Amino acid sequence: MATKKSNTIKLKFDSARNLAPAPESKSAAKIDPQYELFINGKFEKPSGKKYFASINPATEEKLSMIAEANDADVNKAVKAARAAYENVWKKMPGAERAKYIYRIARMIQERAREFAIIETLDGGKPIRESRDFDVPTAANHFFYYAGWADKLEYAFPNRHTSPLGVAGQIIPWNFPLLMAAWKIAPALACGNTVVIKPAENTSLTALKLAEIIQEADLPAGVVNIITGAGATGAAIVNHPDVNKIAFTGSTEVGKIIQRAIAGTNKKATLELGGKAANIIFDDAPIDQAVEGVINGIFFNQGHVCCAGSRLYVQESVFKEVVRKLKDRLESLIVGDPMDKNTDIGAINSKEQLNIINNYIKIGQQEGAEMYQSSASLPKRGFYCRPTIFTNVAQSNRIAQEEIFGPVLAIQSFRTDDEVIEKANNTPYGLSAGVWTDKGSKIFNMTTKLRAGVVWANTFNKFDPTSPFGGYKESGYGREGGVHGLAAYVNIV
Ligand code: ADP
Repeated sequence: MATKKSNTIKLKFDSARNLAPAPESKSAAKIDPQYELFINGKFEKPSGKKYFASINPATEEKLSMIAEANDADVNKAVKAARAAYENVWKKMPGAERAKYIYRIARMIQERAREFAIIETLDGGKPIRESRDFDVPTAANHFFYYAGWADKLEYAFPNRHTSPLGVAGQIIPWNFPLLMAAWKIAPALACGNTVVIKPAENTSLTALKLAEIIQEADLPAGVVNIITGAGATGAAIVNHPDVNKIAFTGSTEVGKIIQRAIAGTNKKATLELGGKAANIIFDDAPIDQAVEGVINGIFFNQGHVCCAGSRLYVQESVFKEVVRKLKDRLESLIVGDPMDKNTDIGAINSKEQLNIINNYIKIGQQEGAEMYQSSASLPKRGFYCRPTIFTNVAQSNRIAQEEIFGPVLAIQSFRTDDEVIEKANNTPYGLSAGVWTDKGSKIFNMTTKLRAGVVWANTFNKFDPTSPFGGYKESGYGREGGVHGLAAYVNIV
């Protein structure tokens, strides 16, 4: 009998970077040279006649010019949303509302490739991520909440619910289409109308969504999509006829919004920053944990509020984990986000790259030991090598502050109590991860970690049925699942 050959695949890490290019085609998506505001079912020019450029962060090339909405435009959008709410949407039976929401979900699926390409060109994230995560998850949110539209009495048994009215929604640049879906779908399902503003550097997929909403024949004014920067966002927040603010973004702007709506009747959900701890115990499946840590902080360039940017490793496996992380770091492909092989794409903007580079400098000045992958970076565009810091003190800024980039701070620990104390010792509390073989340890950790989401033996997993949201300076309110409905209804 012939000896059976080992079928172990030995991955030579150098060769991973020498894969032939596999670029997605730009021509499968159409980007107009200029985009207007989507108000009352129509695309309208901004009353101030001002436009700003949207840049591809991977190449620094201009993609399109985007309309800037001023106070008058915001007012028009809110008026349209109010009229649609009073005259059409709040009166419409849930089963009818659901049909529109399902239609939007299906149309996103039909145009999935186009959405993925535009998301990657506009935001710099790898096409694999836009294609396999952002776009399908966005469609799933619409599907999921469409299902609730006529079943709200089952979501809140023996209670009476009514919609809030006009929801003002402000979203960030890290998951532009997904955040729009995350905000719009539950609002519509519950009978509210919407004025939503994408982030100024990633407006394109929200505007494509506006095209779908128009084609889906959603009654005019039910969803209004307006573009602009902070001043436009502030105009939505301060508009007296907005009943609810849903914001995802920085803790700094979250605090401004809280101050602005204090003393008003506006309801709010705020999903803010994070500094998630990933915790590896010595009984964890180490290779799986290392892959989870890599996925949790380096994919999507660390542009995730729930990114696992801190890692705590039990002392007896510390050296092994760090060695494996460094090896894996070397195999990550950094570069053209449109290439299907790319793991880490472009940083979303020059300003964000400067912030990340500044934190990398701070880490070194604080005395932490830095390790960066040796990947060569494209000459144009905004890129950052994946970076690991060891020898980190709990008080270091790189262990306390949100960096929003591919930078991981690693520390060791000995006991459960020690790691719980360290993991909870930041101003944030959005998410955490636990890696262990023991179910009992998982339950012990999940009850003691002050984080809205705790993943066990996995990380950064999202599903429309699961609630998401934070503690402390990570914000309040929950989005997703049945909990996400509560944020858009009055319950009596
Ligand atoms: P990030 O740091 O992730 O860019 P920001 O909090 O600055 O997050 O931005 C998130 C969203 O909030 C964007 O759409 C941005 O235009 C908007 N925004 C910025 N400043 C304000 C403000 N003062 N009021 C309302 N929205 C704002």
